[in-house]
Amino acid sequence: MSKEIKVALAGNPNSGKTTAFNAITGARQHVGNYPGITVDKKEGFTSVGENKIHLIDLPGTYSLTAYTMEEIVARNVVADQRPDVVIDVLNAGALERNLYLAIQLMEMGAPLVLALNMMDEANKQGMKIDLAKLSELLNVPVVETVARTGDGIPSLMEATVKCAAENQGKKWEPLSISYGPDLDPALDKLIALIEENNVLTDRYPARWTAIKYLESDDEIIQLGREMHPVSAELEEIVKDVSKHLESTLATYPEAVIADYRYGFITSIIRQGVVTRLDATADRVALSDKIDRVVTHRFLGPLIMFGIMYLIYQITFTFSETPVGWFENFFGWLGGIVDANMSEGLLKSLIVSGVIDGVGGVMGFVPLIMFMFLQIALLEDSGYMARVAYMLDRVFRFFGLHGCSVMPFIVSGGIAGGCAVPGVMAARTLRSPKEKLATLITAPFMACGAKLPVFLLFVGIFFKEHQAMVMFLITMVAWACALIVSKILRNTVIKGESTPFVMELPPYRFPTMRGLFIHTWERTWQYIKKAGTVILAISILIWAAMTFPNLPADQVAAFDAQKTVVQEQIDSANASGAPAAELEEKLAMIENDEAEATLKNSYAGSIGVALEPVMRPAGFDWRTNIALVGGFAAKEVIVSTLGTAYSLGDVDPEDAAPLAERIAQDPNWTPSTAIAFLLFVLLYAPCFVTVVAIKQEAGSWKWALFSVVFNTGLAYIVAVAVVQIGKLL
Ligand code: GDP
Ligand code: MG
Repeated sequence: MSKEIKVALAGNPNSGKTTAFNAITGARQHVGNYPGITVDKKEGFTSVGENKIHLIDLPGTYSLTAYTMEEIVARNVVADQRPDVVIDVLNAGALERNLYLAIQLMEMGAPLVLALNMMDEANKQGMKIDLAKLSELLNVPVVETVARTGDGIPSLMEATVKCAAENQGKKWEPLSISYGPDLDPALDKLIALIEENNVLTDRYPARWTAIKYLESDDEIIQLGREMHPVSAELEEIVKDVSKHLESTLATYPEAVIADYRYGFITSIIRQGVVTRLDATADRVALSDKIDRVVTHRFLGPLIMFGIMYLIYQITFTFSETPVGWFENFFGWLGGIVDANMSEGLLKSLIVSGVIDGVGGVMGFVPLIMFMFLQIALLEDSGYMARVAYMLDRVFRFFGLHGCSVMPFIVSGGIAGGCAVPGVMAARTLRSPKEKLATLITAPFMACGAKLPVFLLFVGIFFKEHQAMVMFLITMVAWACALIVSKILRNTVIKGESTPFVMELPPYRFPTMRGLFIHTWERTWQYIKKAGTVILAISILIWAAMTFPNLPADQVAAFDAQKTVVQEQIDSANASGAPAAELEEKLAMIENDEAEATLKNSYAGSIGVALEPVMRPAGFDWRTNIALVGGFAAKEVIVSTLGTAYSLGDVDPEDAAPLAERIAQDPNWTPSTAIAFLLFVLLYAPCFVTVVAIKQEAGSWKWALFSVVFNTGLAYIVAVAVVQIGKLL
């Protein structure tokens, strides 16, 4: 019999889940998004004997309570898709902590197979794990694996197929552990009510839902409220027991539940499952030694800034040549189209709208790839967690939280992130006020979409010090985020700060394969966006820049002028007189016409209408159009400038790259360039980010606040720079 077995892969972050997924599926995988959110959805296929296996990679999580988007996604997939088997990948070296998730999966009742991964490291640390005993005590199959080398993967798949066969058609059997004399009676009451009223019983075991109520799980309580009048009664029971715990033990249900879970795990581990032979010669000790230097009070930050600076240096040094190739390629492509198509709208669309617009964005692919590669290196080695750890001390002072570091870094704290997942990463913040401050300031970071703008202008105006200036821009982003959050936390979002605990994973050597996959995943996202969203917006903006046409009388006036000069040129040529000056005159008229046409278009009208406002910041109408377009997606700023300068340029024969055109425009000076860079860095988050902020903050109010406040701030900063520049 052959049937498709649906298998979900769960595990803590850094347990080797991705590595295991790749080892199981090889190249047969598909990466997408869960609908509406940016948590990666990875699926793959493989077969074991007769059986086809459909593998779903769940996001890495420590628990299944709704603290983060990842946790919600993970448990929803298990509840809704009812996988035949869940494989939980555990880091064997940190068995206790990793079993915490396993227990919760068992409480959901899913048929489980444990993959004790990183057994090579556990062994090196001198740990001995009795797999048979662990399997017997938990009553689930346990297989040891080294995902990195593929060892144990075949046995894991065999155990999975066997588990699926054994559980086929059977009801899920949730694990039931005791939560002590205070919670157990409350649990029983909750369970009775839940079963009686069928609260979410189609998705979750009653006991599981009851525990979530006790854990104050936002999502479950919300769902309960929407569907059942009995929800109020359930919440009342939770309130009572909470009050009781508060007055007798000065604690709350969530903490008690965690204690009992760990108690359950410890009792299992103590029964001879783990023996440590030699705990000194392990990698953890080495990590500790490294950390004594790397997270040292004074040395640590120095090393951190050194590394960040190095990233920019390396990126610029190595990417110059490939960036040149890309530029040449798009130049060549434009030339071919130009030579082979007749003048007209279609040619204009392809050259100005598509090639110049998208080409401007694609040209930065090599640069961005180098940046992503180095970020992957920092992440995979474990250094990124140290950065978060060190910055936590600083963050507290500015009214933020250690958990704000990740949203900032993801948003582009080390240039090249994206504010959408960044804003979503703020879910881990428990205090609504620290979260709000993080949501509003994270979009200041130098996200991957702003990078092309920075790179373009830095390349033109600060050619000698590119890496240095890029590094400075990143520092400015951080400084603005911190200062603004300090101000906000003392005014509109006042409130106490909350304590923070964070553990540091041991350092580890990244693998080439892991680096390659991480780099490529992000680069591909960038390319895909350029090929889809950016292409669509480019075409839209091209249309807005092309229509309506210049009124016929004006076209006629330009034509008349051109005919006069052309006749003069002809007669000069005929008599052998020099015509260079006349040629120039003709070119000037054509330039004026192109500019008048662009100015007359829809986009031009908007840009011109904004000129009085933006003039103090030194931006002309072309820049204004680009900035308005940038609200849709920041990459559009470069593509719009590309189109605007290309359309304004009448002589496509010498199709100069955008950089040269900007360099020749007298409107751009170093001080307007700086003002522009800062404006782009700080102004309204892109549309998608604004929607994400709305979701995270729970109301449009703060999403709109971020648009208005950030743009206002950007404007003030840009105007200040230009005005100070004038004085100097
Ligand atoms: P994820 O966060 O769970 O997806 O973890 P990854 O698959 O990205 O793995 C994190 C790191 O652990 C990578 O550097 C892997 O190469 C490494 N790794 C994964 N499995 C093993 C293993 O079995 N042994 C060792 N030594 N390293 C592993
Ligand atoms: Mg991973």
